[in-house]
Amino acid sequence: MSFKSAYLNDLMERVIKRNPGESEFHQTVREVLESIEPVLEARPDFVESGVVERMVEPERIIKFRVPWLDDNGKVQVNRGFRIQFNSAIGPYKGGLRLHPSVNLGIIKFLGFEQIFKNSLTGLPIGGGKGGSDFDPKGKSDREVMAFCQAFMSELCKYIGADTDVPAGDIGTGAREIGYMFGQYKKLRGLFEGVLTGKGLSYGGSLARTEATGYGLLYLTEEMLKCHGEVMKGKTAAVSGAGNVAIYAIEKAEQMGVKPVTCSDSTGWVYDPDGIDAAALKEIKEVKRQRLTEYKKYRQNSEYHEGKGVWTVKCDIALPCATQNELDLEDAKMLAANGVIAVCEGANMPTTAEATKYFQENGVYFVPGKAANAGGVAASALEMSQDSERIAWSFERVDTELKKIMVRLYHNIDEAAKKYGFEGNYVVGANIAGFEKVVDAMNAQGIV
Ligand code: NDP
Repeated sequence: MSFKSAYLNDLMERVIKRNPGESEFHQTVREVLESIEPVLEARPDFVESGVVERMVEPERIIKFRVPWLDDNGKVQVNRGFRIQFNSAIGPYKGGLRLHPSVNLGIIKFLGFEQIFKNSLTGLPIGGGKGGSDFDPKGKSDREVMAFCQAFMSELCKYIGADTDVPAGDIGTGAREIGYMFGQYKKLRGLFEGVLTGKGLSYGGSLARTEATGYGLLYLTEEMLKCHGEVMKGKTAAVSGAGNVAIYAIEKAEQMGVKPVTCSDSTGWVYDPDGIDAAALKEIKEVKRQRLTEYKKYRQNSEYHEGKGVWTVKCDIALPCATQNELDLEDAKMLAANGVIAVCEGANMPTTAEATKYFQENGVYFVPGKAANAGGVAASALEMSQDSERIAWSFERVDTELKKIMVRLYHNIDEAAKKYGFEGNYVVGANIAGFEKVVDAMNAQGIV
């Protein structure tokens, strides 16, 4: 065990015993406990009130069967999850992931991260996450609808505009949110802001689609500015080709940064002239095709099978695909190629060893719970608009988003400095997120 404090060693051991085989969950709990160790040293009352033990245990776990009929009339059975992790500062909020790799441990890791991320936005939202091992890839629209309706038929019993508000994540885009919203409305007889990431014709928010990627770039810009660097003229390596990656690439272009890569689960693209965000949107959002199609839009680009984004020379690395996609070897390669900043668009895409390597080798590193918080922040703004029954302009949401990301950067920077960890944004994000939630939990008593 890696903690100085016997209390934290004991707690970590219990988390591992109680949640066997859930390695991603152990990984994120360990990272948070390591970060908050100095806070607990300064505040023994946090240990006495058992607040950390309570925090690592979800308030509620919902696990359910999702039966649906495929196009051949055959019954398919998937597994659905919703983890309502922490409601100390607001209704549970967090996405629904649809991917064959989904299991309880993955959802628990994402739900735990979400508590701190949501707290960092400064908005009143608690932490939750959900999803299913259903794979929307290769399914017809009717099959996706049948799955979404079956999923929501069960989930609708546990969510609501003031209790738990799910959103999109890997595999859950505008189409899936639409089918789920329709089923919720039908079963509960309520037209309310129960989901975010909705279409604009039924309560969605302008700029929500762009928010995670744009927010990532706003935060990166602010951080670099505070270190005397400018965005303009830099080169970025981006992984992923989904919602986060596409809008990170689009905003990078707008800021004068050249994003030269993107990737999906089968291969990656290098475009020396800069990835064309419009082409990527057409391939991924409209035609739902593989990245092999990209070459048809840009003759100079290269497509490679497998993994390889992190071998490319860049100033800024933006991992925007999935967890643990950037390992120690990748980190060494990026550092050797002169990377100055790594900001996570995805949730925990960098392994613990790679994170440590960046921190020890002078690379600015911002974890996903801070750097990708723009998505959930815009979701919270969507909730506000739904409650007010008013739609804000794109500019208003985008301006708020930018303010939130800039403030967030300064909060994590100051939290790290306060405890003597200047420049360590992992520690800063965990502490800043933790302090607000702990304050609320302690004020509300042992519940
Ligand atoms: P999408 O489903 O839109 O895109 C995910 C991208 O990552 C796709 O290009 C996908 O490839 C690739 N990918 C997924 N799984 C793997 C894998 N196992 N190996 C390699 N590539 C993979 O998801 P998002 O863009 O919404 O989410 C990306 C990340 O950002 C996730 O970690 C998510 O939790 C996080 N995030 C998303 C937010 C949002 O607002 N959307 C908010 C905050 C965090 P393929 O197309 O082949 O499937």
